[in-house]
Amino acid sequence: MNREYYSKLIFEHSRPGRQGFSLPKVTAKDTLDKALPPHLRRQKALDLPEVDEPTVVRHYTNSSNNNFGVDTGFYPLGSCTMKYNPKINDEIAADPVISRLHPLQPVCTTQGALEIYYTLQRALSEIGGMAEFTVNPFAGAHGELTGLMVIHAYHDSRADWARTKVIVPDSAHGTNPASAAVCGYQIVEVKSLPDGTVDVEDLKTKLGPDIAAMMMTNPNTVGMFEKHIPEIAKLVHDCGGLMYYDGANLNPMLGVCRPGDMGFDVMHINLHKTFSTPHGGGGPGSGPIGVRTGLEQFLPNPHVVKIDDGKYDVRFFDSALGRVSSWLGNFAVEMRALAYIMSLGSEGLMKVGPLSTLNANYIMQQLRDLYLLPIEGPCKHEFVFDGLKDKSTGVTTLNVAKRLLDFGFHAPTIYFPLLFHESLMIEPTETETRETLDRFIAVMRQIAKEAAEQPELVKSAPHNTPISHPDDTEAALHPVVTWKELS
Ligand SMILES: *Cc1c(COP(=O)(O)O)cnc(C)c1O
Repeated sequence: MNREYYSKLIFEHSRPGRQGFSLPKVTAKDTLDKALPPHLRRQKALDLPEVDEPTVVRHYTNSSNNNFGVDTGFYPLGSCTMKYNPKINDEIAADPVISRLHPLQPVCTTQGALEIYYTLQRALSEIGGMAEFTVNPFAGAHGELTGLMVIHAYHDSRADWARTKVIVPDSAHGTNPASAAVCGYQIVEVKSLPDGTVDVEDLKTKLGPDIAAMMMTNPNTVGMFEKHIPEIAKLVHDCGGLMYYDGANLNPMLGVCRPGDMGFDVMHINLHKTFSTPHGGGGPGSGPIGVRTGLEQFLPNPHVVKIDDGKYDVRFFDSALGRVSSWLGNFAVEMRALAYIMSLGSEGLMKVGPLSTLNANYIMQQLRDLYLLPIEGPCKHEFVFDGLKDKSTGVTTLNVAKRLLDFGFHAPTIYFPLLFHESLMIEPTETETRETLDRFIAVMRQIAKEAAEQPELVKSAPHNTPISHPDDTEAALHPVVTWKELS
């Protein structure tokens, strides 16, 4: 393939007068002209590329081949749960019966859709061990903000105005302190122990009547199960605060344990990580939140309820938060989640957590002689290496990640979490075969060998990708995101 030719923009293929379509003559031009007031009409023609059909087809087909996704290869991106999403769920969500509904249709014509919302709310409540769920928020971070607003509304309802702070572990995902700050809270950071879990002694010094809530991620950001949750929950509750569970990483917990049973009051789930919506490109997401008994009345409007005669209705409650989204969240994402839950059934869902945990531990054990494992003990769905064990080669985590691309694997998450200098965070998920895991392990071992014997080969990688070493800093400081003709 001629790389230079195929990495051009479609605008660069443009030649005046060339065209790849033929449309019938507009016969209703007069009517159109009358329908659109003059000030809304375009004054000059749009500057669109003029290209013939084969060039268009080749351009987009080759561009799509430059992309990497779960459908093209193994994607062990830690903290992201890039697992394979069954295609049947996309098909169901795209069914015109579902995709052509309008949110403001009379409820007597949308009973099926409302039943879908209601059934998903019930299923998520069962999975999370919560009393009620709302599917309205659009993403994990949006769910965090909504959950904290529920906590705020709860304290307000008791006229407890003194609670101005939220406790967040230093290992937390960046969205946690950000959401708390957007909600108007001050952040109190609690330290981690060397094994990555929350330092309970440090926590004790932070508790008091000014604490509104504590946010926790479990398994935490380094893939470890937080063993002291019952004790932590008791400490926080005793001082009058609520417990918030960041369930973006619920995958390894499925069928094993439930946040509600561990003492959490509010939680969110990322449907676009655990429940079958492809993600990674900034596409539509969903961050439903669940609450324990006694907090349901604060969940944001509107609510889908089941009424006496077995029918469903959309209700607005005075005690509730206002809207956090235009309607009931991203329906197609919710549909995929319900299709996934129902097709796996409780038996299938119970295997997700144990299998994702098994896969992560398998890779960790097969590579720990060559890569530095900073935290001992079994991990959950993911784990962190602190770069190569042999530090004398000068080969960094960035080099290893880029060399992996040459072998057709997506890179793991790198330089996050910030607890280690050379973090390399691997999450294989439960959807990969033993053969794929073995191929990945073999390549990781080969890269370690190359680092020792031919370090330059690894440092100059990738060698097989359309672009090799973009200037990250320049791209972040001066991004060029629009096309301008080079004169
Ligand atoms: C992904 C993630 C989030 C944020 O979810 P978004 O949908 O990207 O907003 C929050 N917390 C954790 C632990 C995550 O992994």
